[in-house]
Amino acid sequence: MDIHEYQAKEILAGFGVTVPQGALAYSPEQAAYRAREMGGSRWIVKAQVHAGGRGKAGGVKLCDSDHEIVTACEDMFGRKLVTHQTGPAGKGIYRVYVEAAVPFEREIYLGFVLDRSLQRVMIVASAEGGMEIEEISAQRPESIVRSTVEPAVGLQEFQAREIAFALGIPPALTQAMVRTLLGCYAAFRDLDATMVEINPLVITSDNRIMALDAKMTFDSNALFRHPQISELRDKSQEDPRESRAADRGLNYIGLDGNIGCIVNGAGLAMATMDTIKLAGGEPANFLDIGGGATPERVAKAFRLVMSDSNVQAILVNIFAGINRCDWVAEGVVQALTQNPVEVPVVVRLAGTNVDEGLRILAKSGLPIIRATTLMEAAERAVTAWRNDQAQNTNVRAI
Ligand code: GDP
Ligand code: MN
Repeated sequence: MDIHEYQAKEILAGFGVTVPQGALAYSPEQAAYRAREMGGSRWIVKAQVHAGGRGKAGGVKLCDSDHEIVTACEDMFGRKLVTHQTGPAGKGIYRVYVEAAVPFEREIYLGFVLDRSLQRVMIVASAEGGMEIEEISAQRPESIVRSTVEPAVGLQEFQAREIAFALGIPPALTQAMVRTLLGCYAAFRDLDATMVEINPLVITSDNRIMALDAKMTFDSNALFRHPQISELRDKSQEDPRESRAADRGLNYIGLDGNIGCIVNGAGLAMATMDTIKLAGGEPANFLDIGGGATPERVAKAFRLVMSDSNVQAILVNIFAGINRCDWVAEGVVQALTQNPVEVPVVVRLAGTNVDEGLRILAKSGLPIIRATTLMEAAERAVTAWRNDQAQNTNVRAI
C-alpha cells in the first residue's frame, strides 16, 4: 500500500528525520491561507498523488505570493496528473501540500528497499539525487552506493557513517546523516514497509540535512499490525475495480481483454489465462475467490466481474480442494438469478462435491455452459464469446 508524501514525511519526522515545515490543503484558498499562516515569502506547492515524477509533470510549483499559490493550485485540483510512474490514466489531484521553500546546496538520493534474492533490506544512495536519478543510475551505475543491512543486528552506526562518507557528506553533517539513515531504517522495520525513498535529501544552504520529498510503501499483508497506517489508505489513488474488490476481501486484477475470469488461487488464475489465450481469447480480468468461499462470496465476485464494462463473457474455473463445488454453484445461481447477465457464462467445476455442484447448475435451468476440462472450458468461453459478438453485430445490422 502506498501513502502520500505528506504522510510519509510526518512518519519519518517521528523517527528523527528533518523535514520542511508544511501544511495540507484541499482547495486553492486553503492552500494560500496555509502559506500565510506558515509565514515566509517563498513556498512549494506539491500535488499529493501516489506517484513520483511529479516535478517533471507540473505537479511541483515554486510560488512567491498568495496569488501564485492560488493559480498553481487551480491548475492542479481535480486534474489527473500523468507522470512516468502513473500510467496514461494518471492520478487525480485532490490534496496539495504547501511547504516553506528551502534553499539547498546539494541533492542526494536515498532509498531503502527489500532485496528479495539477498533477503535483506538494501540501502541505495547516490551523491547526485534529484529529478534525474533514473538517468544517473542508468548512465553511471558505479556512482550508486549500496549497503545491505544484517537483520540480526539492524543498521549499525558505523555502517551509516560509511554511507555518509561514500556520499561525501561534510564531516560536520555526518552525525545528522547517521541520524537520518537510522531513522529511516527504524521506520522501515517497525512499520513493515517495503520501500522508503527520499529524493531529494538535501544539504540546505544553512547546513542541515533535510528530506524535501518522501515516499513509503507498506506490506499489505502486515497492515493488520498497523491500524494507524491502514487508515492512511487513499482510495482516490487506486484502480476503482481493484479497490472495490479489496473492500470485499477479494483479489482482483484488471486486464485489457474481454473474458472475465473467476477462479480460486493465483496458480489456477495464471493457467486459466494462458489457456484462454491458447484458445484465441483475451482475459478482461481475473478474480480470485480464495479458499472456502461461501455462495454469498461467489455471488459478490460475480457482480464485481460483471461491473467491468469490458467483460463480454465469463469463465468460472474452480478446482475445489478447500472450496466446495456446491457452494460455488449456489453462488453462481444466486448471482445469475438476482442479476441476470446478457453475456455467455461458462462454468467448469472439479474437486470437492463436484457432482452436487453440477446438479445445482443443471437444476437451475439457467443458460450456463458447462465444461469438464480446463481446455474445454477455455474453448467454450472463447467460442461462446465469438458467437455472442457475431449475433450482436447481426442484431445491430438488422
Ligand atoms: P517528484 O518529482 O515527484 O519526485 O517531487 P519532488 O518532491 O522530489 O520535487 C521535485 C523537485 O522539486 C525536487 O527534486 C527539488 O529539486 C524541488 N523541490 C522540492 N521541494 C523543494 C523545496 O522546498 N525547495 C526547493 N528549492 N526545491 C524543492
Ligand atoms: Mn522526488
